[in-house]
Amino acid sequence: MAPPPRPSKPHIILFPFMSKGHTIPLLHLAHLLLGRGAAVTIFTTPLNHPFISHSLPQTNVSIIDLPFPENIPEIPPGIESTDKFPSMSLFVPFVNGIKLMQPSFEKALQNITIHSQVNCIISDAFLHWTQKSASKFNIPRLSFDGMSYYAMALSREVVSNRLLWLHESADEPFTVTRFPWIELRRNDFDDPFDKLDPRGALWDFVMEAMNATQNSYGILMNTFYELEKPFADYWAQNCQPKTWTIGPLCLAQLPKSDSSEPIQKPKWVQWLDQKLAQGSPVLYIAFGSQATISAQQLREIAFGLEEAKANFLWVLRKSVNSEVIDDGFEERVKGRGIIVKEWVDQKEILEHETVKGFLSHCGWNSALEGICAAVPILAWPLMADQYLNAKVVVEEIKVGLRVNTVDGTVKGFVSGESLKKTVVELMEGEAGERLREKVAELAAAAREAMADGGSSWSALNELISEVCRENVKV
Ligand code: UDP
Repeated sequence: MAPPPRPSKPHIILFPFMSKGHTIPLLHLAHLLLGRGAAVTIFTTPLNHPFISHSLPQTNVSIIDLPFPENIPEIPPGIESTDKFPSMSLFVPFVNGIKLMQPSFEKALQNITIHSQVNCIISDAFLHWTQKSASKFNIPRLSFDGMSYYAMALSREVVSNRLLWLHESADEPFTVTRFPWIELRRNDFDDPFDKLDPRGALWDFVMEAMNATQNSYGILMNTFYELEKPFADYWAQNCQPKTWTIGPLCLAQLPKSDSSEPIQKPKWVQWLDQKLAQGSPVLYIAFGSQATISAQQLREIAFGLEEAKANFLWVLRKSVNSEVIDDGFEERVKGRGIIVKEWVDQKEILEHETVKGFLSHCGWNSALEGICAAVPILAWPLMADQYLNAKVVVEEIKVGLRVNTVDGTVKGFVSGESLKKTVVELMEGEAGERLREKVAELAAAAREAMADGGSSWSALNELISEVCRENVKV
């Protein structure tokens, strides 16, 4: 059969993992690709479709829903994304279950490639099986896992040199030969790497995902070169496959609504406007879309915020049982603090002029969004790569402070009293002022990287022209 005609414009397939932190940056990428004249097809599942279509208004992106596999052991019906998990213990059954989507993905690819050429597939590292599908169709696949270079480079160093398993205790520090200024602990990593003898289903999954990434055409990095030079250079000189550094993707310009109706601001943005008018700086608190926090820890956060006397906007996930915070709390902080339990536009909040601090779990998207909005971060990592991201923020680029745990360990409990002190330091202290200056410099550098001629702008252009070449080697 004759090959499909070469397209007049690049055609790129995006397949995000079904979690908000992994999907949002690829939706931003879709806007950038459309802006470069590419055709974009996004794969998703029926229950994730509305979030995707809502994020891409007025675009001609084609969205293909693959049926979500039925009867995945342990996954209740109706759950198609990780932010709906009652507990993150469902992660392994979920990622293993969604492998069953491979045949329908390949059937859809078959249909697409009859009519048009696909220049590349950008799929999440967790959807590791898409690498095999891409190579069946001779399409280059780029892997995306939304991590920083720091997290990626250090993970590789500590695993390949077996540094993680030097000490019995997960809190014993060790140095990394390649980066002698960095002190790590096994507890700076999450399950399965924080185990002395890692094995089991999660370890197998991570290895499978790493191998598929290794065999991919490249890796897409949501960061910018100027932010992470030593770690980006390390990867370029020592590791495979090649990376394209094209972020921060949160700076992609999204099209404005063409509705003539005035847009009603959400009530929390109206509240921020009031705070701005009063000249009151606000601390924004959010721990991302997945992390869980114990009832006891939630109570300490409430206590710390109350004692710090700071103005705050605290976003709690719907699933968080806010009843555990004592009844009178909202009344006592009335006028200076609000709790929001809806999905917010986090970027809009961070960019609000009155937001001067961000208590964050340091998901990489949140960290980048804080940096781009020039808001210093109070880092409180809770899972995954967040412990390493917190080290980037505090020790490497120095735009944040870290919460102190009661016992000094990475994953320990944080008392309200100690939280109060760091909140005051960030919002009122000299340290906070210094961090604000530094983060403003990085926010400007991030914009430069994404602007015409900047490092990330150029990297995306190079990627598009490379995958559009004839006979690109898959
Ligand atoms: N987010 C948002 N509104 C919310 C909660 C989260 O816009 O109410 C966005 C946030 O801006 C970020 C993403 O969801 O882009 C979360 O990604 P991150 O890497 O920070 O954390 P994760 O949720 O993956 O732990």
